[in-house]
Amino acid sequence: MVDPLRRTKILATLGPATDRPGVTEALIAAGVNVVRLNFSHGTAAAHARRVAEVRNAAKRLGREVGVLGDLQGPKIRIETFAEGKVQLRAGQPFILDCGEHPAPGDAGRVGCSYRGLPADVAPGDTLLLDDGLIALEVERIDEDRIHCRVLTDGTLSDRKGLNRLGGGLSLGALTDKDRADIRTAAELGVDFLAVSFCRSAEDLDEARRLAMEAGSQAAIVAKIERAEAIANLGEIIQAADAVMVARGDLGVEIGDAELPGLQKKIIREALAGNRVVITATQMLQSMVNSPIPTRAEVLDVANAVIDGTDAVMLSEETAAGQHPVRAVEAMVRICRGAERQFDHDTDFEAARRDLTRADEAISMAAMFLTEHIHVRAIVALTESGGTARHLSRFRSKTPIFGMSRHPEARRRMALMRDVYPIDFDSRGLAPRMAAREAVRHLFGLGLLAAGDRVIITSGDHMEQHGSTNTLRLLKVGENGAAEGLGEL
Ligand code: PGA
Ligand code: MN
Repeated sequence: MVDPLRRTKILATLGPATDRPGVTEALIAAGVNVVRLNFSHGTAAAHARRVAEVRNAAKRLGREVGVLGDLQGPKIRIETFAEGKVQLRAGQPFILDCGEHPAPGDAGRVGCSYRGLPADVAPGDTLLLDDGLIALEVERIDEDRIHCRVLTDGTLSDRKGLNRLGGGLSLGALTDKDRADIRTAAELGVDFLAVSFCRSAEDLDEARRLAMEAGSQAAIVAKIERAEAIANLGEIIQAADAVMVARGDLGVEIGDAELPGLQKKIIREALAGNRVVITATQMLQSMVNSPIPTRAEVLDVANAVIDGTDAVMLSEETAAGQHPVRAVEAMVRICRGAERQFDHDTDFEAARRDLTRADEAISMAAMFLTEHIHVRAIVALTESGGTARHLSRFRSKTPIFGMSRHPEARRRMALMRDVYPIDFDSRGLAPRMAAREAVRHLFGLGLLAAGDRVIITSGDHMEQHGSTNTLRLLKVGENGAAEGLGEL
C-alpha cells in the first residue's frame, strides 16, 4: 500500500507544449510534483495563466504541486544576424563586437550584448557558443572588439548563449529583468525561486532579500552552472534552501568530462548540508522528438536516483517537446525501477555529530530507529516542513508523511525525496491526541493499515516552527485507533 509510492520527485518545465488543452492536468496526473516556469521565455501574463491552470488541476486531482520560478540570470548572448544565421568554418576569423548598437552580424562578425566581455577575456581563451556547439579562440582584443579564430565548423544563429571555458566572466547574478521577474514571481505566489548563474552566497542573499521585499517566502534554489559556483559550493549550499545541478551550462563552462564527478559531489554535499537537490537538463533529451528514451538516458536518470538526488527535472522535453506526458511517464517508470533495485541502507557514518537543534536530533533518532525496528512509516507533524527535510536527508527505506495545515509547507515538501505531504490540522489538540488523530487520518486515506507500526515526531506547540522535540512509537489498531507500542 505504502510501498508502491514513488520516492524521487519529478519537476517539469511548462511551455508551449504544455499549453495545449489537457496537457498540464495530464502531466500532474502522470506524477509531476513541481512545475517550472522558465522566465527566459514567455510573458508575465503567460506565466500567470500557467500557474492558475496548475493550481486548478492540482486541486481537481487532489495533489500538492509546487511552482518554481526560474530566473533567466546573466546569460551572455550574441545579438542577431542580418540573415538570421551564418555558416562558420574552422580557421576563419570572427569578431565579437561589444560596442554600443552593433550592426546586424554576418559571417565575419556579430554583436554581443555584454559590454564588459573584452575586459574579461584574454588571448588564448576559448569561448563557447550555443552550449558548446561552436568554439572560438580569442586572438586579440581591440577596444570593444574581440578578434577570434573559429575552432569548429557550424551554423550560428541569432541570440545564442556564450560561455568562457573555465568560467570567470564578471557579470553579476541578478539583472534588471531578474529583479522585475522576482516581483512577478512574488505576485504569482511561487514556492521556489531559482537563481541562475549564482557565484556566491551573496548572490543568493540578494535574491532572497528582493523576494522578501516583494512579499515572497519562496525557497531559494541555487543553480550550480558556473565554475565560480563550484569553487564556492559550501557557502552556496548554506545560503540556499535547495541546489540544482544545472548540467547544461555547467558542462559548457567546466567541460563535460567533469560532470559525472561534480553531480555526485554536489548531491553528496547538499544532503550533508541539509539541503534539497535537483538534477537537471537533457535527462530525456531525445524524447523532445521520440516517444521513448534512449538506453543511455534511462541509465542517466537511474544513476541520478542512485546518486541520491531529491528530484529529476525535464526541460525542453515537456516545455516544447512532442511527447510531454510520455516523458513524465518514462521518468516515473525509471525512478521506480531504480528505487526498487537499489534500496540502500541509511549511512549514519556520514551523518553529522555536531547537532545544534532539537528537531535535527529527533529526526536522527527517528531514522536510527527505522534501521533497527520495523515501522511502516515516519509521520512528521510539521509546521514549516523543516522536520520532514531533516528526516528525508537520510534517504531511508521508510516513507515519511509530512503533515501540515499550511499549503506552502506542503508544496515545499513536494520536492523532498521520500516525503508525502498531507493536509492535516492539529491545532487545538494536545500533542498526544494530535499523534493519534494523525494516525487515524492516514488510516482513513488508506495509507496505513491495522497492525502497522509508526514513528511520530511532533512538538509541544504545533504553531511554532522548528519546535519538534518528541518521538512516539505507535501501533495502528483495527478501526485506525492508535495504541502505544510496548513490545518491539
Ligand atoms: P537553463 O538551466 O535550462 O535555464 O539553462 C539549466 C542548465 O543550465 O542546465
Ligand atoms: Mn542554465
